[in-house]
Amino acid sequence: MSESPTTSVRDVIIIGSGPAGLTAAIYAARANLAPLVIEGFPSSTSDQPGGQLMLTSDIENFPGFIEGLAGPELMGNMRSQAARFGAEFLTTKAERVDFSSQPFRIWAPDPSTGVEVEHLARSVIVSTGARSLMLGLPAEEQLLSKGVSTCATCDGFFFRGQDIAVIGGGDSALEEAIFLTKFGETVTLVHRRKELRASKIMQDRAFKNPKIKFVWDSVVTDIAGTSKVEGIHLRNTTSGEESYLPVGGVFVAIGHVPNTGVFSDQLDMDDAGYLVTAVGSTATNVPGVFACGDVQDHTYRQAITAAGTGCMAAIDAERWLEVTGQES
Ligand code: NAP
Repeated sequence: MSESPTTSVRDVIIIGSGPAGLTAAIYAARANLAPLVIEGFPSSTSDQPGGQLMLTSDIENFPGFIEGLAGPELMGNMRSQAARFGAEFLTTKAERVDFSSQPFRIWAPDPSTGVEVEHLARSVIVSTGARSLMLGLPAEEQLLSKGVSTCATCDGFFFRGQDIAVIGGGDSALEEAIFLTKFGETVTLVHRRKELRASKIMQDRAFKNPKIKFVWDSVVTDIAGTSKVEGIHLRNTTSGEESYLPVGGVFVAIGHVPNTGVFSDQLDMDDAGYLVTAVGSTATNVPGVFACGDVQDHTYRQAITAAGTGCMAAIDAERWLEVTGQES
């Protein structure tokens, strides 16, 4: 592909358009930084970019919405709010970056022609998020937000009095299972081996919880239900025996992957690939590059915490531009 460099150098380019990126866009736009948001592409089941919340039907814990609202509605509102203050959006994906010198360079295909375009910026906010690992079953995608979930904190409340399955054997799965016992009639943890990967302390807590049952050496082969989850089909990995477990909810907790491939060799990451930011700040190891949201947070992973760090990143970028005398 040929390259056609853009002529202007932006004060700030934001990569990613979940709650972190869009909150950063609102704050940066209101600070007259005229941000460009490279917003990514819609997922296969949504019509606009916006990250994981585009796959979430009901959000009841985002402050300010008494009756709750749908994920796409929240993201649409945030995007319109940022646009109202002058943020610009490009529906494309950053494919490579060069943060080794000023101005920073980001390459992304032009949304209409597909030709690679170079974008220049004095500061960059990375908010590319993380994605939940999924089992890869067709029914899993069809029933996402209809009983299949990847976040107990977000969705547990909807499963009051129901039988729930949690898939996975790591700390996340056990944490989700323990949390879900507050709502579910029963919680069944399905793990593909006989030994849990989770830490000893989490194992002890889960084993002591009378509401949690364990199904060992088992994988989910299908999820039953059309408009909502009705149960899961299981296969024992040692005996080959097939079984069916009726449940109203399936929480897939087999790990997350941060969307940081494009930043390898550019930004410091931890062993799991999450971007490393300074304590109490969104600064990465490259002065002028900031990171917010799930791409640098594997602890909280909430829309509101992502939005909070998005606000921090915009303020950090604004101050950095001012202190270094770079603001246009
Ligand atoms: P993880 O430790 O990688 O565990 C993933 C689990 O999912 C493993 O048990 C794995 O099975 C299973 N799994 C993976 N792919 C699967 C598949 N296709 N089908 C069925 N099962 C599958 O991920 P995590 O639990 O999200 O934890 C990530 C990191 O965050 C860990 O370092 C963890 O300690 C940390 N964390 C800590 C806490 C806490 O301290 N409270 C809470 C959450 C997470 P195998 O065991 O067979 O590989």
